[in-house]
Amino acid sequence: MRSLLLIFLLSFSFFKSQKCYDLKEVLKVQPTNLYKPHLLAAQNFGIKILEDSKSVDRYIAKGKFVKVKKKSRGYRLQTLEYSRPYLVKKARATLENMANKFATETKSFFVVSSVTRTMEDQCNLRKVNSNASLGISSHNYGAAFDISYVRFNHLLKVDPKLENKLEKLLEEYKNMGRIFYIKEKQQSCYHVTVRRY
Ligand SMILES: [Zn+2]
Repeated sequence: MRSLLLIFLLSFSFFKSQKCYDLKEVLKVQPTNLYKPHLLAAQNFGIKILEDSKSVDRYIAKGKFVKVKKKSRGYRLQTLEYSRPYLVKKARATLENMANKFATETKSFFVVSSVTRTMEDQCNLRKVNSNASLGISSHNYGAAFDISYVRFNHLLKVDPKLENKLEKLLEEYKNMGRIFYIKEKQQSCYHVTVRRY
């Protein structure tokens, strides 16, 4: 009986320690040409790919990651399910700066729908959203966030005027060499990666 229990416990801890991803396989997935600059920019901050909570905690302890506030002038943070409210300092400063400008120009705020994802978070996301990327993403380095374009001022609707203002702002920051962005239609958001400027 005792050995049965032991086998049970051993197999339980074995399954528990099984990773839901294979880093080698994940790293083999080639990014698209559109996405490549995002990855290179994110990797430029000297953060190793985030595998789990522990890796995030280590960067928080080192002062490399800072917490993203739930609200600031010009943006609100959505309740995060598959990501964590931490970014490298430059990315947070850029988000706040852009949001501030957006508020001045529009008297509105935008909603940040996703921030930093570990490889584990990414697996969990994939379980509910098969579109979630198989390879690595700039979210895995603490340098990216998503801005919804259907949730301005917490109203779930299409707002072409505000969407246009947001896109202009993103274009401006891109031209200043501060960010890269992609419009992700499936997620109704702009994926933004901050560069080390
Ligand atoms: Zn994204």
